[in-house]
Amino acid sequence: MSGIYQIKRLADLGVDAVLFEGEDDLGGTWYRNRYPGCRFDSESYTYGYSFSKELLEEWHWKERFSSQPENLRYLNYVADRFDLRRHMRFGARVERMDWDDAARRWNLRFANGGSHSARFVVTSLGPLSAPTMPSYEGMDEFEGEAFHTFFWPKEPVALQGRRVGVIGTGATGIQVIAEIADKVAELKVFQRRPNWSTPLNNSTISEAEMDEIRDRYEEIFANCAASPGGFEHVPRWGFWDRTADERRALWDELYSQSGFAILAANFAEIFFDEVANREVSEYIADRIRGRVDDPAVAEKLIPLDHGFGLQRLPLETDYFEAYNLPNVELIDLRETPIERFTPAGIQTSGTHYDLDLIVYATGFDAITGAYDRVQIHGVDGTSLSEQWRDGPSTYIGVLSHGFPNLLMVAGPQSVSGSTNFPRAIETGVEWVTDLVAYALDHGYSRIEADAEAEQDWVAEVIRAHERMLFRRSKGWFTGYNSNVAGHEEGRVRYQAYFGGAPRYRAKIDAIAADDYRGITLE
Ligand code: NAP
Repeated sequence: MSGIYQIKRLADLGVDAVLFEGEDDLGGTWYRNRYPGCRFDSESYTYGYSFSKELLEEWHWKERFSSQPENLRYLNYVADRFDLRRHMRFGARVERMDWDDAARRWNLRFANGGSHSARFVVTSLGPLSAPTMPSYEGMDEFEGEAFHTFFWPKEPVALQGRRVGVIGTGATGIQVIAEIADKVAELKVFQRRPNWSTPLNNSTISEAEMDEIRDRYEEIFANCAASPGGFEHVPRWGFWDRTADERRALWDELYSQSGFAILAANFAEIFFDEVANREVSEYIADRIRGRVDDPAVAEKLIPLDHGFGLQRLPLETDYFEAYNLPNVELIDLRETPIERFTPAGIQTSGTHYDLDLIVYATGFDAITGAYDRVQIHGVDGTSLSEQWRDGPSTYIGVLSHGFPNLLMVAGPQSVSGSTNFPRAIETGVEWVTDLVAYALDHGYSRIEADAEAEQDWVAEVIRAHERMLFRRSKGWFTGYNSNVAGHEEGRVRYQAYFGGAPRYRAKIDAIAADDYRGITLE
């Protein structure tokens, strides 16, 4: 999403720009994640690009929450529509980047042995593009088929008649489980910690509805720009001004609305006030109890270690009903942990499960993982991943001191991780493009964030984070990933700015208007 728009803006600017992509085609997230059930949980028409009136007129979103194949078609349409493929080099995975301070250039080396030199490098690496695997004994010995959801094959995967195990119940696991439950012979869900999850309430978009959406596009994007999460849903204050019955009535309404309404149009207090959060959590827990036939299974699906909305909320379609099917079994790994994998399946402390296919829905080394996978060496050879070992340090999520001319779109400590991604991506791309144009216009060839300005930004990111109840939860918002050294529970990484999109945009616009305050251009 970000690379495609970024290359368009740089091409429009008339600079000599090339886009390097590690995969053999475009699409990023929507190229890779081909697992069944994969779809937006942002309303499609708030997820698509807003930059071209013609594009908005031409494209018909077929579903309120569009699925992966359609999303990939959309990105290909955009690339072809604006003739962007000519700027793209596929199979060009950047392995290493070294800053040459004398030449004021980055030297890039590719995994395939090639190289490239550039004045500026704009990273569009994606916040959720570095998948992570668990490490259980015997995983290599399993003789069936096994893959991470990110690497779900392009070729159709047989499901019918097969015994399938899914590990992980985040947004991905929840989508894949609900989609395949009634298509496989047996489904074993290996759950370590449950997640809160609420209905997506997807529906198709008719021609007439799409016409209405087209008429409303300006308003839609204005609404997204004005809301903290980059959606049309708007949070409200006033939890304590309503009676408990009034609150429940609102939640009944929001639960049946589509997308993130139950989260993003809820009382804002639920994110800050423990008592308010406990009450809404109890409400959602009751909803789960009402949907799962076996009360013992229902209790296992209700999170006890974090409140509703305090980790990234997965949205679902018939997820809880999947556990009512006779072929679906929930295995609670807190009661019976996985001991090892065997050639035939998975051995827990309780039972051996025979499996034909194992799906790892085990998540990502979020936000900084993609940066760690490129060896980036800045001034004096300093390694970015070393510098960010205990957490990223950036100036407004775009620059990092010691790494001149490295401009990040949807970077760590921007709002990208915390809001409707594409809305923040467009903000980021436009800001970065303006900065490049400004530097070129003024004859500057070196752009670097000032150390002090960066410290101030990190302090602001931490302040915004500390206000929110999620600060104590274990999810990628707080940098938790049990499969990545240094990202374990209790080691908080301040990876995203949670001050909301409007505030973020106001801040970065003010910096630009003030001749790029906090950035040394020379
Ligand atoms: P995730 O939220 O990080 O979930 C990973 C799951 O794997 C967790 O349930 C985790 O359990 C489990 N897990 C990890 N290691 C394990 C191990 N060794 N043994 C057992 N279980 C293990 O990852 P995700 O589901 O891929 O979602 C990541 C993000 O991608 C989402 O939050 C969302 O932003 C994005 N996404 C979006 C959509 C969409 O609808 N647009 C769909 C999918 C994903 P623990 O919690 O116990 O570690």
